[in-house]
Amino acid sequence: MERLTVDRALRSVSETAKSVTRLDGRLLLMHCLHCRLEDVIAAPDRALTDEEAGRFHALIERRIKGEPVSQILQHKEFWGLPFKVTRDVLTPRPDTETLIELALELYEKEAPETILDIGTGSGCILAALLQEFSHAAGTGIDISELALTIAAENIRNLGFSKRACLEQADFRSDLTGRYDLIVSNPPYISKRECSDLPVDVRDYEPATALFAGDGYDAYRAIVVQLPRLLRPDGIIIFEVGQGQLDTVISLITKTFEQAGRPLGVTVKNDLSGIPRSIGARG
Ligand code: GLN
Repeated sequence: MERLTVDRALRSVSETAKSVTRLDGRLLLMHCLHCRLEDVIAAPDRALTDEEAGRFHALIERRIKGEPVSQILQHKEFWGLPFKVTRDVLTPRPDTETLIELALELYEKEAPETILDIGTGSGCILAALLQEFSHAAGTGIDISELALTIAAENIRNLGFSKRACLEQADFRSDLTGRYDLIVSNPPYISKRECSDLPVDVRDYEPATALFAGDGYDAYRAIVVQLPRLLRPDGIIIFEVGQGQLDTVISLITKTFEQAGRPLGVTVKNDLSGIPRSIGARG
């Protein structure tokens, strides 16, 4: 029988399981071989033991059924930082990094001292901001206690415990405090879009992190609270879904007009050129 090598194992996956990308295959192989991704790429002729091959096969089966690679590995990188990821939190997305980029652009001259992350999930946005603004303190809230347990673990592992506070709260309830910077990647998918989602999102990521009424419920609930929660000249940064930009901008603009606070809006596109984050100073 032919020896199973890294290259052969990957090739057999791409021939038999079309839904599994080459990167997925490499990441799962990396996990089975306890090595780095570079090692998988650099050593196509490395032979797999029977045990390694068996483990790889089992992970590929899980992936074929739809389980996201991030959940199989219990790991995802965001803003160059490592995060633990389980079924209880939304997997951090590269698109969400545009929120951090926008915060850095808007705080080119000064820096925020107090930060609120609404719907913190894995804690990825909060941790990235604490990494960038080294004198800031931040609060992360989430409705899910299970998510907060993961966020706490991530914040602790990254060494931010002294500057971070995590609390269970629903954004529909009255939030308290006053902040320089408020960020949120809220649930923004409408319930009727549920069936259009890929299985690895729909069946494996937490519904509370994904869905909110018609897609705008979370924005509405948060925006009405902003004049109270945001210090004068403070900044709100939202992630938005495809096609949601104008509606979310008008929600923020109306609320600040009513509160008599002038507003400056900046938009940042993701790598596919889709408007992904909105920053408003007011
Ligand atoms: N803040 C987390 C993230 O951006 C979780 C967001 C959410 O659960 N909707 O990944």
